[in-house]
Amino acid sequence: MGKIKSVRFKLNTFEYEKPFHITGSISTKTTNIEVVVELDNGAIGYGEASPSFRVNGEKVEALFALEQTVNEMIKGINSKNYRQIFDITDKLFAFPSIKAAIQYAVLDAFSVEINTPVYQILGGAREKIETDKTISIGTLEERINDARRIFEEGFNVIKIKVGENLKEDIKALEKIYEITKGAKYIVDANMGYTPKQAITFVNEIYRMGIDINVFEQPVPAQDIEGLKFVRFNSPFPVGADESAKTKFDVMRLIKEEAVDYINIKLMKSGISDALAIVEMAKAANLHLMIGCMGESSLGINQSIHFAAGTGAFDFHDLDSSLMIKEKKFRGKYKTEIPYYFVV
Ligand code: MN
Repeated sequence: MGKIKSVRFKLNTFEYEKPFHITGSISTKTTNIEVVVELDNGAIGYGEASPSFRVNGEKVEALFALEQTVNEMIKGINSKNYRQIFDITDKLFAFPSIKAAIQYAVLDAFSVEINTPVYQILGGAREKIETDKTISIGTLEERINDARRIFEEGFNVIKIKVGENLKEDIKALEKIYEITKGAKYIVDANMGYTPKQAITFVNEIYRMGIDINVFEQPVPAQDIEGLKFVRFNSPFPVGADESAKTKFDVMRLIKEEAVDYINIKLMKSGISDALAIVEMAKAANLHLMIGCMGESSLGINQSIHFAAGTGAFDFHDLDSSLMIKEKKFRGKYKTEIPYYFVV
């Protein structure tokens, strides 16, 4: 088996098909870092970091400057000892998206060497997963049009962004429900509500006879008390996203009994913490979903193989690559909306 010969970083910028609006942020493009790991036997593995300043405090420029440091950290280590590389790169906790990309690229290189796809290295639990698609914040008309289009495209799970205007959000849910009956909903406030607003929201939705499968991150990341308050006063399962970045965050959420769901994102946790969170959630009887930042097909590939390999997720919110313009498809998977198949 080969030893790590070099780790190279490359910047790739992608434009969104249309501006992606969530609580407190509108994105028109995303700049990601492609990570290329080359072994001394010629095998090459690829990963992608999609940094988030909003969630992780990461800036692309700062991450990009780590290339030499990363080479010094893991050069010469054998790919088959990838756990050693995970432990060493766990030191990059302040740069979780680049940690994820490096860890995945090492697995990908190992996968090439042993001619076994990454999802099988991670357990081979499934070969097919279903993704949702997201309606971002917009005017009522825009939200309705998006809902209709997404439902007609064949998505059964619809993610709805809320959190900037309680009244408009309730109205939007009512209208979206009318034209997408039979769909499942994940509603994500991206920290936009106060605990009391969140309770008002779920009560109104419940009163209209609408079911929500996951009510994601209603309140600010650090407000664990608030999250717990919403959980115990909501008829719907409540999930943590921005509150759950590392396995240490999840440990606290479990101890506080603050949520029903954890949204794992490789960009927040890397492969190493994500693996830990999967087992912690099982032990604590928590449910899991998997999400993404602004990954292209190269980065979504990582989450698809992780999700299929572990088979741990009730919901897969892996639609960023479906919302950006890409010249070339880079995934080791096939798409048949709403499914992804690992290959
Ligand atoms: Mn979220």
